Amino acid sequence: MSNDTNLAIEAKGLNKSYVHKYGKKVKALIDFDIKIPKGVTYGLLGPNGAGKSTFINILGGLVIKNSGDVKVCGINLDKNLKKCRKLIGIVPQELNMDPFFTPLELLELQAGLYGVKKKERKTLEILKSVGLTEQKDSYARNLSGGMKRRLLVAKALVHDPEVVILDEPTAGVDVELRQKIWGHIKELNKEGVTVCLTTHYLQEAEQLCDYISIINKGKIIISDKKNNILNLISKKTVNFLLEEAIYNIPENLQNFSPEIKDQTLSISYDKNNTNLKDILILFEKNKIKFKEINTFESDLEDVFIELTKEKN
Ligand code: ADP
Repeated sequence: MSNDTNLAIEAKGLNKSYVHKYGKKVKALIDFDIKIPKGVTYGLLGPNGAGKSTFINILGGLVIKNSGDVKVCGINLDKNLKKCRKLIGIVPQELNMDPFFTPLELLELQAGLYGVKKKERKTLEILKSVGLTEQKDSYARNLSGGMKRRLLVAKALVHDPEVVILDEPTAGVDVELRQKIWGHIKELNKEGVTVCLTTHYLQEAEQLCDYISIINKGKIIISDKKNNILNLISKKTVNFLLEEAIYNIPENLQNFSPEIKDQTLSISYDKNNTNLKDILILFEKNKIKFKEINTFESDLEDVFIELTKEKN
């Protein structure tokens, strides 16, 4: 393992198998390596069953790995689980919390569990930051789904963790609440907290994350800066709605996978070595006139499909 002080989380050679009924073994993580730099928002992206929760539960000390090493801000999890737990705040996916406690009481309890001294607690400040000041004395069972989620975020913050891990923060949440949660995650990160989130929404990773690991069947397929991953697929497709239908595609457009359907000519090219202007010049040379252009760039979904396709 490295001694890199810029890493919030480092895992090397993690393996975890679960033994199901009748002795069937399921490999949830296979030789899993990851380095999460301090201060970033890092997305663990993969379909259900990929192994994301297993990884974060190992970080939280809730699942025991079979092999491998984990460091949190340079501290070995096996050697000092207590210290590692203090460095991490986990926001679980399920909205389960004691219905008869108020947000204020729940945060005070949580702070007590983490050994935060009374005078060092920032309960009201945290409630304010997640927009629950007005609800601080209401029973948790009376809070809306969105408020409960914000309360879970608040609970994860009571011990001032350096790393906050959110498990599927917007699973089953409506569009408006999703936007609010995204705003909140961005805010946390701006304050210097390293954020790691799991998601199976590609758009969520695209919107929020600086770095992404794509995980499938317990293995990391790729880890890189988001933009590098997006650039992996550099194909760009442009649809031209022509003024007049053409029936023969000119020779000098043949290299651009031309396809014609009704009055639309679609052209695809590698944006690393061609740009739209080159195509427009060829159109002019061939005296092809068009009324409208629509362009399509690859997004994470294309990258994901492309990368998981080879492995299946
Ligand atoms: P994800 O969070 O990406 O959906 P999980 O880590 O929950 O993936 O699951 C990875 C694999 O491990 C799946 O095949 C899942 O069925 C299995 N698994 C997860 N938790 C348990 C458990 N407690 N007991 C048995 N199998 C489990």
